Amino acid sequence: MIGGATLLAGVVGNPVAHSMSPALHNAWLAAAGIDGAYVAFRIAEDRFASFVDGLRGGSLRGLNVTLPFKGQALALADRASDRATMAGAANVLVFEPNGEIAADNTDGLGLLAAFAEQAPGFDPKAGPVAILGAGGGARGAAAAFAAAGCPDVRIVNRTQAKAQAITDILGGEAFGLHRAAAAFDGVIAVINATSAGLAGEGDLDAPLEATPAGCVIMDMVYKPLITPFLARARALDRQTVDGLAMLIGQAAPSFEAFYGRSPSAEVDVRALALKLLEPR
Ligand code: NDP
Repeated sequence: MIGGATLLAGVVGNPVAHSMSPALHNAWLAAAGIDGAYVAFRIAEDRFASFVDGLRGGSLRGLNVTLPFKGQALALADRASDRATMAGAANVLVFEPNGEIAADNTDGLGLLAAFAEQAPGFDPKAGPVAILGAGGGARGAAAAFAAAGCPDVRIVNRTQAKAQAITDILGGEAFGLHRAAAAFDGVIAVINATSAGLAGEGDLDAPLEATPAGCVIMDMVYKPLITPFLARARALDRQTVDGLAMLIGQAAPSFEAFYGRSPSAEVDVRALALKLLEPR
């Protein structure tokens, strides 16, 4: 029952209808017996700032932020964690009672948790990684790998200047998408952090055959769970990591930020999300 005292939180993005975050958070809220509800907000690009500003003071406990707003979210916040600042992007905003907004970035934690779960033994320090994309997700991934001791983070993007903007801050090398094969030379992991492949909208034309045989291939897109990108990786016998594991890995610390406690490990949120991802 949603009542007058229900604690509200949500996810904001555009598009956002594909998001699994409401299913995960509402399952955790129910398991914890918290009087709370978590909903999705699709906001026009030019209204994001006024939407967030209107929530100051805590009408919502907090927001997860997805594409294309992660950079703006960081800029609007009054303070930010080191990892959000390093990533230049925020996927968590917490609305303090005094009107301030605190920003964090849990995408990197989620990404490394996903590798730990689905590619056990993977060591970010063991070699170069290539990240495709230069938006908020890519920035979070690059910052996480750099912080985890990866010796060479390569950013590959359709718009090379955006890749360069990340490597200017975090180090590593920027590549245009047309030079992806060169960027894949000797890598231990390739991460698709572009929105290509989202909701089955075509594959990113990246030459995965140029990756070494032991390379782990990851896609942040989780709808469909096995994207065309991951399907090509599997056809090449590469080990894969899916975006759902990352989503769950970033959602858990978000829940803690909103409600002050860890989500219950008793709830199998992956099974729940997989059920929702099944074609109807
Ligand atoms: P942004 O909108 O900030 O960035 C999108 C990136 O994708 C840009 O670099 C853009 O390139 C690139 N891109 C888009 N379409 C194409 C295309 N057809 N070909 C080549 N490049 C393309 O998005 P985010 O970084 O926030 O998110 C990226 C993806 O990662 C989304 O699908 C999001 O859902 C997913 N994600 C998943 C998470 C999870 O927990 N599983 C967490 C974070 C993100 P350009 O700069 O040239 O425009």
